[in-house]
Amino acid sequence: MPELPEVETTRLGLLPRLQGRTLERIVVRNPRLRWPVPDDLQSHLGGLVLNALNRRGKYLLFDFGPATQIVHLGMSGSLRFAGPDEPAALHDHVDWLFDDGTTLRLREPRRFGAQLWTENVKRHPLLAHLGPEPLTPEFDAAYLHAQCQRRSASIKQVIMDAQVVVGVGNIYASESLFHAGIRPATAARRLSRPACARLAAAIKQVLTAAIAAGGSSLRDYVHSSGELGYFQLQTRVYDRAGQPCKTCAAPIRRIVQGQRASFYCQVCQR
Ligand SMILES: [Zn+2]
Repeated sequence: MPELPEVETTRLGLLPRLQGRTLERIVVRNPRLRWPVPDDLQSHLGGLVLNALNRRGKYLLFDFGPATQIVHLGMSGSLRFAGPDEPAALHDHVDWLFDDGTTLRLREPRRFGAQLWTENVKRHPLLAHLGPEPLTPEFDAAYLHAQCQRRSASIKQVIMDAQVVVGVGNIYASESLFHAGIRPATAARRLSRPACARLAAAIKQVLTAAIAAGGSSLRDYVHSSGELGYFQLQTRVYDRAGQPCKTCAAPIRRIVQGQRASFYCQVCQR
């Protein structure tokens, strides 16, 4: 599943070729994504110039001035530039044709992705209640500690809650907790302020490293340049059950929380 680093990598890859370009046409081959693709996209976005390409959590926000297009890559989605006259494949559901001949193409085999538009990004129901971005100063020890005090869930579930902080998926939650030395099942409200400081710093560090590596988790991830890529994060605990901890050699443990697998080292995380 594309996580925040993959979405950010996609954004950085698309931006230089699309910014300032005029969107001429949107071709929707299959409108049956997670929500139906609205049939008035062309009339609201066609002819507009792309001012900026932003990201909020895992949503890509194409800023066309009067309207913003919201794209989510769902479970398996990718965006890439199609070559001239390159035929669309089975799961290539949407094309965006720009005035310089560039074609941006959405592939989403599992159709959990989204393509919507809005005139008011801040008030859009998918975006209005999201917590802060993890890589901004707003997400710090004081903020995280205050959020933890209010919640009875485990710390792993708290940092994966998009109302607390956006974009911390399952892989990055396990990895961040390892770096902070905190067990995933610890009750959030038991965490001290210094522990929250370590965790906030670890989340920033893990996500920044993953963005620098170009994202990690999507098996059929396609670079925005069109090349096939497969980034495998060098994980410390995630998906390493039974293997020796890279720090202390104790076997990595696996537990299930909220139907998601968590991984930790019982020695390094106390
Ligand atoms: Zn260890």
